Amino acid sequence: MRKHIVAGNWKMNKNFEEADELVSNIMDKLEETDLKDTLLIVCPPFPYLELCTDYSNDSYFMVGAQNVSDKESGAYTGEVSASMLKSIELDYCIVGHSERRAYYGETDALVAAKVNQLLANEIKPIVCCGEVLEEREANKQFDVVKKQITDGLFHLTAEQFSEVVIAYEPVWAIGTGKTATPDQAQEMHAFIRSLIAEKYGKEVAEETSILYGGSCKPGNAKELFANPDVDGGLIGGASLKADDFVAIATSF
Ligand code: PEP
Repeated sequence: MRKHIVAGNWKMNKNFEEADELVSNIMDKLEETDLKDTLLIVCPPFPYLELCTDYSNDSYFMVGAQNVSDKESGAYTGEVSASMLKSIELDYCIVGHSERRAYYGETDALVAAKVNQLLANEIKPIVCCGEVLEEREANKQFDVVKKQITDGLFHLTAEQFSEVVIAYEPVWAIGTGKTATPDQAQEMHAFIRSLIAEKYGKEVAEETSILYGGSCKPGNAKELFANPDVDGGLIGGASLKADDFVAIATSF
């Protein structure tokens, strides 16, 4: 069966001391919590990746980056390559977050190139997709998500695709306090799974974890995760509080 996953995207928050406090609080909470089979992933900013891997030691949670270069290595000032992430034993990396698409011009072609770099280095990509408000109001959300998934991911072989985690994040729900209804989330997740089944077959589709993201909190996670095609969450704001993050992870 596919994995239940709760991943925390810290975005560009916390100084070193605050990051240390947050991850140590997450550890304390986890000591007294039964996560059952839910996989927890923490995605801090680059400077705190090793702090998190040192704390977790691969046993409490996995650690992921929030971004990666589309290039292999060389004169690309400021970039971080997939092989660097691999060299500190990271397991996951977020790609194509709507903030990167909106503020840094990340296209589906760039998402595809980053996914290729990650897979070549045995890091699992968490690939984000989702429509903006005007697209939903114009009932174009399915076309938008289909294009993002097709152009960003469907060049992969079935074997490569089986390493991918998808996060459906309606942009109008990110950081706004407006959550998609459980029905809206289920409808889109089922649609994404049907696209995967069409391209790679039912077996691969059934094994793919599809996370929901967008103002997911302890108060609404249960309802969202109760849907058959919602396999967990990508959590922004609520991942900055250890209590809330771990509470969400126990909402299955
Ligand atoms: C996100 O940015 O991935 C996200 C889901 O943010 P938030 O939970 O704050 O809406």
